[in-house]
Amino acid sequence: MSRYFTRSLDPYVPGEQPEDLSRFVKLNTNENPYPPSERALAFAREHCRPMQLYSDLNVLDLRAALAAEVGLEPENVLLSNGSDELLYFAFLAFCSGARGAVFPDISYGFYPVFARLCGVPYQEIPLRADLSIAPEDYFDRHQTVVLANPNAPTGLLLGMEDIRAILDRNRDSVVLIDEAYIDFGGQSCAALLREYDNLLVARTFSKSRSMAGARLGYAYGSAALIGDLETIRYSVNPYNVNSYTLALGLGTMLDGDYTRQTCRSIQENREYTIEMLSKRGFEVLPSAANFVFARHPDYPGAALYAALKARGVLVRHFDKPRIADYNRITIGTRAQMDALLEAVDEIVRAER
Ligand code: PMP
Repeated sequence: MSRYFTRSLDPYVPGEQPEDLSRFVKLNTNENPYPPSERALAFAREHCRPMQLYSDLNVLDLRAALAAEVGLEPENVLLSNGSDELLYFAFLAFCSGARGAVFPDISYGFYPVFARLCGVPYQEIPLRADLSIAPEDYFDRHQTVVLANPNAPTGLLLGMEDIRAILDRNRDSVVLIDEAYIDFGGQSCAALLREYDNLLVARTFSKSRSMAGARLGYAYGSAALIGDLETIRYSVNPYNVNSYTLALGLGTMLDGDYTRQTCRSIQENREYTIEMLSKRGFEVLPSAANFVFARHPDYPGAALYAALKARGVLVRHFDKPRIADYNRITIGTRAQMDALLEAVDEIVRAER
């Protein structure tokens, strides 16, 4: 039985995670190049619940801190083991039966994987030719709408008025906005939660808070939607987030200046990278995320990916129609971006 089920699945393929990190400049999985702050790490060491005990089930302090950031209550916040877990919970809770889900054909690769895992029907809507999302494509769907904002792997941002229009035209459906990358220049739509009880916002500590390895995600939503997700959580794994991660998460919240400062550095490094790649003939989409999506007229995406890898620079290539010419390049430190540019120059020279 299980063999038949797993055979029908087509699991998500994460970016490469090399064992020997010293061999690569790792710009392939949108991690933050900066570690969590010393203050946050010290807080976690001091306040971590004893490991022989199960982790806290309610985590009121962290949920209250997250809720306060957007003027909500702890009942409006769900914590998860990375935001991937809460996306899974949301597909289970809100997409079952005939309703199903709708999302762009080019977006986070986990959406169709979760849809298939949960056995829900889904529809993928093509992005416009310029790889942007057409908001009107998501009007009056009677399906659960799932959008990453900024979108991945394009980095393109939808404005608040577009999100509002999508919410207005889907009052009977959950609209899930995945804001994994919102802290790198976008404006969170969490402010709309007071007006829309069909809005669910997915966020993560993996990117802007430098905690990818700790696995901490969270959702903002109405008490009813969060309650539905809690029902799933208590049906799967109530102790879904470990004690150390919970303590470190709160530690990073108490050191917001550090997060703002590192996000600003990443944005500066992004603008530098866009300028330098453009000078080298690349076409780079305007990005509101901690990565850029770029192509070069003379180098097929796969060839460039391989040539960069041969020079110790890992980026992400998606062998998919319409985007096979591109590579997604995570924004790292200035030194990492200079290493990327040096490798690009070598490749261009070698080809001449
Ligand atoms: N959403 C998007 C759009 C992502 O790119 C990612 C990172 N791969 C996630 C969600 C999940 O991140 P995490 O599980 O680390 O919170």
